[in-house]
Amino acid sequence: MSPIDLQVCQQDLSPAILSFYLQAEAIAVDTETMGLNPWRDRLCLVQLCDPTGNVTVIPIAQGQQEAPNLKQLLEAENILKIFHYARFDVAQLRHRLGIETQPIFCTKIASKLARTYTSSHGLKSLVQELEGVELDKTSQSSDWGNPDNLSPEQLKYASNDVFYLYSISRKLTTILQREGRWELAQQCFSCIPVIVSLDLMQYKDIFEH
Ligand code: MN
Repeated sequence: MSPIDLQVCQQDLSPAILSFYLQAEAIAVDTETMGLNPWRDRLCLVQLCDPTGNVTVIPIAQGQQEAPNLKQLLEAENILKIFHYARFDVAQLRHRLGIETQPIFCTKIASKLARTYTSSHGLKSLVQELEGVELDKTSQSSDWGNPDNLSPEQLKYASNDVFYLYSISRKLTTILQREGRWELAQQCFSCIPVIVSLDLMQYKDIFEH
């Protein structure tokens, strides 16, 4: 697979792409924001990809508070939503667009549970080891706030961040099943909405002594 069929949909999924994605068993999801603080830094972009590599990039407007078609997809109970570090994206999607994303698969958690032979659990390391592809991360820290002027490099970067997630999730699931940790992984995934609630209320370390 190589990128791809890339669509840009301003502010929400088009009805046609929504119907198309609703047929998928899983959808990979990523977001780009102005920074790492969900109260200060707004959501700029939501990227989606189905298991066959159809990518949609959705620029989110300043002050935008809803995206009904995106919400329908991300809340659909029969479609797995695959993230890398779901905790951050799920918080942004809830805080900015009122979306309660579920069910969730997080490739970072899956990697930490499965790949105990390494401490490298970033997306770049995962794509390198499991897909044999060198991800270009040079657009990672860039201005995502101007949807009419996204560069081709930014669009490619944004697409690559979702393009490999489905394949990676399948490979990590195989390892987790082999090692007897698949059930534990699923239990971790189902905790993410609770952890997001705690994060958004700014609780820290409540499980510590
Ligand atoms: Mn990203």
